[in-house]
Amino acid sequence: MVAQADEELQQQYFHSLEKKEQLEEKMRDTMEVPCRVVSCAQCKYTHYRALDSCSEQAHKLTWHSAKKRFFRCHHCGERAVSFDRLPKRHCRKCGVFKWERDGMLKEKKGPKIGGETLQPRGRGTTSVSE
Ligand SMILES: [Zn+2]
Ligand SMILES: [Zn+2]
Repeated sequence: MVAQADEELQQQYFHSLEKKEQLEEKMRDTMEVPCRVVSCAQCKYTHYRALDSCSEQAHKLTWHSAKKRFFRCHHCGERAVSFDRLPKRHCRKCGVFKWERDGMLKEKKGPKIGGETLQPRGRGTTSVSE
């Protein structure tokens, strides 16, 4: 009985782990997300919300849908987002202007979670013997 409960717990654990990995994978594959942004013709910016000064000075604000894209500095790995095809600025960390497309989620270095710490049938509670 104890072993069975343990197994159930393990399955739950793996199930949630799988879900998490699926989600992470999906996020890694997500290179852009649609969003609503506002542009000011006078100040020449595009952002989630308009500056107060723009409203105060009655600048012409245009709301439109855009795509938020994810980038990574080719040189140092610093991440950036942009509504344009490329970020308009240099990397704030190393100053290099060399962006490459990246996923929503940062690529993890090293082994995957759970992969090496917990083996699916390495606990001795299962009936498999070789
Ligand atoms: Zn403005
Ligand atoms: Zn950089």
